[in-house]
Amino acid sequence: LLNEIYRQLQSIYPEMVEIRRDLHMHPELSFQEVETPRKVAAYLQSLGIEVRTGVGGKGVVGTLRGALPGKTVALRADFDALPIHDEKDVPYKSTVPGVMHACGHDGHTATLLGLAKVLSGLRDQLQGNVVFIHQFAEELAPGGAIAMIEDGCLDGVDVIFGTHLWSSQPVGLIGYRVGPTMAASDRFEIELIGRGGHGAAPHETVDPIVMGGQLIVALQQIVSRKVNPTKPAVVTVGAFHAGEAFNVIPDRAKMIGTVRTFHEDVRDQIEREIGELAASISEGMGGSCEYIFSRGYPALVNHPQETLFLADLAKEIVGEQNVFELDQIMGGEDYAYYLQKVPGTFFFTGAGNPSLGAEYPHHHPKFDIDETSMLVAAKTLASAALNYLKLHAVDDPASNKGLNRPA
Ligand SMILES: [Zn+2]
Ligand SMILES: [Zn+2]
Repeated sequence: LLNEIYRQLQSIYPEMVEIRRDLHMHPELSFQEVETPRKVAAYLQSLGIEVRTGVGGKGVVGTLRGALPGKTVALRADFDALPIHDEKDVPYKSTVPGVMHACGHDGHTATLLGLAKVLSGLRDQLQGNVVFIHQFAEELAPGGAIAMIEDGCLDGVDVIFGTHLWSSQPVGLIGYRVGPTMAASDRFEIELIGRGGHGAAPHETVDPIVMGGQLIVALQQIVSRKVNPTKPAVVTVGAFHAGEAFNVIPDRAKMIGTVRTFHEDVRDQIEREIGELAASISEGMGGSCEYIFSRGYPALVNHPQETLFLADLAKEIVGEQNVFELDQIMGGEDYAYYLQKVPGTFFFTGAGNPSLGAEYPHHHPKFDIDETSMLVAAKTLASAALNYLKLHAVDDPASNKGLNRPA
């Protein structure tokens, strides 16, 4: 069956490219998606797949029920774009000024739709169900995943697989990682409150700029001196604003920054430590502070069994030498929420190819993918889904794994 699926994916590849380019030309920002979910739903409906729209807001969920009983596998693709102006010189360049698919989510969507088309034609042979989760708003916290889960997109789902097309790895490579793989990404904001006055009379003021200078240096020591060195973390001050004139000490100074972690205990610790340093430094100098720590997506933690299962199957598709263990990625992904609910994995499909101009990092105005990566992704997702269903089939005499044995 899998070979038949690969053959059919190959033959509908031009259609996947067409879908991807259409989405690329008509990108929509996170939480503002209208036409994209409409197109996705219409396509799934045309395949005779059960479709639910408006899931968690703007999500679309297609359920393909196999003719034979079995487990339910979810596959996820996100479909939002970014507030970036497309600077590529290609025929499928974005037609919306200032909005661009600069992360490859158009490719994710086209990949999953292509796979839905092929699998829907083979439902007679399907030993279980496949749920296609088309997610809105991955790029902007709180993200679409959490709302879609609350709206039931994982109900009845036994396992989930998803991938990110990845331009910093060459096409033909697949990366996996067990355990914490992508970071929790949080934001902090500190307002330092002093008492302004004349720049020539500092003794009559409480200077929030000096407070800020000390705080920025002190914050560097959270990771170097406080956090367990075996657990990675980042504390970055991304902006510091204070004052306007050369001879005036302002009342207030404000800094904002980001914290990246892989472990909940480190995340809690850093939230606490930043607050304590801000309070003690500002108070020690006679001022005060206001501190807000806003949690973004949690760390993405891949489940061991499903990840190694996927890695083995990927070797059959791209060859053993082209499947590699990823380094941890400090970027965040709201796919993390799905993995908090059901077992599964999130892997990376190489999509870089300098000869096609696909050599820029994600979120770059010239970002592009080698579109053949969609075929690699579709085959790998198909293999994961079909092999999972086969392994857990309730009526397959060839399977010696027993009834409903968990993965
Ligand atoms: Zn992105
Ligand atoms: Zn992305």
